[in-house]
Amino acid sequence: MTEETHQKVKATHLKRNAYLYIRQSTPRQVIENTESTKRQYALRQRAVALGWPEDRIIVIDNDLGQSGASAADREGFQRLVTEVSLGRAGIVLGLEVSRLARNSTDWHRLLEICALADALILDEDGVYDPAHFNDRLLLGLKGTMSEAELHVLRSRLRGGILNKARRGELLIRPPIGLAYNPEGVLALDPDQQVQHSLRLLFETFRRTGSAMATVKAFHNQALLFPRRISGGPQKGDLVWGSLGHCQVLRILHNPRYAGAFVFGRHHVRKMADGHSKIIAVVQADWDTLIPGAHAGYLSWEDYKQNEQRLHESAQAIGGDRRRSPAREGPALLQGLLVCGRCGGRMTVRYHVRYGRLYPDYLCQREGIEHAQPYCQQIPGRGIDEAIGQLLVEAVSPVALEVALSVQQELQSRLEDADRLRLKQVERAQYEADLARRRYLRVDPDNRLVADSLEAEWNSKLRTLTETQQERERQHAQDRQVLSAEQRASILALATNFPRLWRDPNTPDRERKRMVRLLVEDVTLKRDEDIILQIRFKGGATKTINVPLPLNAWQQRATNPEVIREIDRLLERHTYSQIASTLNGRAQLSGEGKPFTSHIVARIRQKYGLASRYDRLRKAGMLTLREMAALLGITSQRVKIWHRNGVLRGHAYTDKNECLYEHPGDNLPCKAQGIKLSERCRANEIASTATQEVQCEA
Ligand SMILES: [Zn+2]
Repeated sequence: MTEETHQKVKATHLKRNAYLYIRQSTPRQVIENTESTKRQYALRQRAVALGWPEDRIIVIDNDLGQSGASAADREGFQRLVTEVSLGRAGIVLGLEVSRLARNSTDWHRLLEICALADALILDEDGVYDPAHFNDRLLLGLKGTMSEAELHVLRSRLRGGILNKARRGELLIRPPIGLAYNPEGVLALDPDQQVQHSLRLLFETFRRTGSAMATVKAFHNQALLFPRRISGGPQKGDLVWGSLGHCQVLRILHNPRYAGAFVFGRHHVRKMADGHSKIIAVVQADWDTLIPGAHAGYLSWEDYKQNEQRLHESAQAIGGDRRRSPAREGPALLQGLLVCGRCGGRMTVRYHVRYGRLYPDYLCQREGIEHAQPYCQQIPGRGIDEAIGQLLVEAVSPVALEVALSVQQELQSRLEDADRLRLKQVERAQYEADLARRRYLRVDPDNRLVADSLEAEWNSKLRTLTETQQERERQHAQDRQVLSAEQRASILALATNFPRLWRDPNTPDRERKRMVRLLVEDVTLKRDEDIILQIRFKGGATKTINVPLPLNAWQQRATNPEVIREIDRLLERHTYSQIASTLNGRAQLSGEGKPFTSHIVARIRQKYGLASRYDRLRKAGMLTLREMAALLGITSQRVKIWHRNGVLRGHAYTDKNECLYEHPGDNLPCKAQGIKLSERCRANEIASTATQEVQCEA
């Protein structure tokens, strides 16, 4: 130790504590690299030599086994910084102090604080005072170099790994179901049960199209799924447990099951709080992707298709519900609907009526997010029926027969085209032969002519090859003709499809899957009726209109024909007479009940038909009181005369309340001695008044 270093240690420093910071990066270093730990503890003697008493030297070794790359997790380092900043430290000791922090920021912060708190720093090389420019420069440099060293080490390691990965030779722990064989080649796991489980998983997903449904299928059949323990004393052991959703997704997303070698599917990113987070990388940015590098459970195309399906299902849960997998409910178009008003995805809601589930299709996303009324809500029953009908028609034997005959027609034209192409080939052949003969005939000494003829011959030969290749290519394309067997199976499908579709035992989910095979999506718009725009898989579209189903009150409304009939009957009949007339014709009310006078009265009122009283008054009939006044008799006598036929009256209620016809100029009067029945007969001959109204005797 030089004189200069001693000069740096002042009495003010010695009054405070000395802190010895001890660290080893990994638990393995702690166990194996004991020499370094010993050297770190030996620093204590240096502090004693500088004048610190034993009991004032505080050892901080909480961070043994922690990496120095960041200060966030290192409790000991944080404690050291705190102690220094509180002015309790006279000196900080560490073996290669720059390694106190392997991160420049942490290191410079410590230097800054030491300078402010007037604390010294000591390592194996000497004592430094961070308040002095020279010492600070040196310490800063040491820190930077230490960080650079770490970087170089790491990049060398990573470079080696990347190079190996790019050649597809890097050994990466295989997922369950794949294993390295003794030759070091990745192959299917020799355990047949493991293989079978994975095959079943992929097959179930192919059938159901949903990861959740795959989990359910395994659960329902009480099937277990294998897993290998990745660490600890039982590392590599096989354990069987229930299949989880995450597990299915992990397996489906893993391209190694499709036989591809991949590297760089995930990156580790440092977060602001010092923790690291594993982030999935999109396929385009993977470091290495070598399809077909080893054996797998499915083809690369199947893998891509699964990815696509998972992507679509994810959209079903996310912001816009698109193409969700078929579920159990009866709503046929679940997951296929687009709103014709705002373009959003529509959802399904069910209501129960008479113990059955009926779907309603509604566009509610905007409504839910912004507390607005729903964009539109459409009863699904009529729509589902219309779609079913459309599909059955589309796959009918007649429709397919037409499609097949069009195909045959196209086929025969293709043969014509092929004959033409053959002619072209023959022509090219002829020209090439001609060029060859010309070339052979020329004098070889006449180089100029010979060269140009040779060039011509070559060009003709090229044309010939191109024409031949073109013809073969076209021919192979055209050869995709349907064999008789294929035609028969297509036609058989046409007869089977409607039967399967209408079979009540076909589960709704299967019916929905059939729709998905044929239909891309359906746009719905509610107007005066419902407009459906169906986009089929092949790109064809069709628009159909479905009438809006009736509201509850509309369904119970009276038949307009019956209302007109009631209007007509009111001219001559009371309510109870009208009711019995209608019941006699087996007519029913809107609610499906027989008519009563009460119902007839309500209908008259509701549809604004003129009452019988008003009709009779309009025809000039007199009330009881008016008639009594006209004849100068009591009301009682008017009734008696009416009963006996002297006066003509017409009932306007079921209680036989009447309005009376004007008796004319020849007013009846009291005539004693003549029987009422005889006066009545005389009156009948006289009166021919209004045939419109029926006599109410
Ligand atoms: Zn909408």
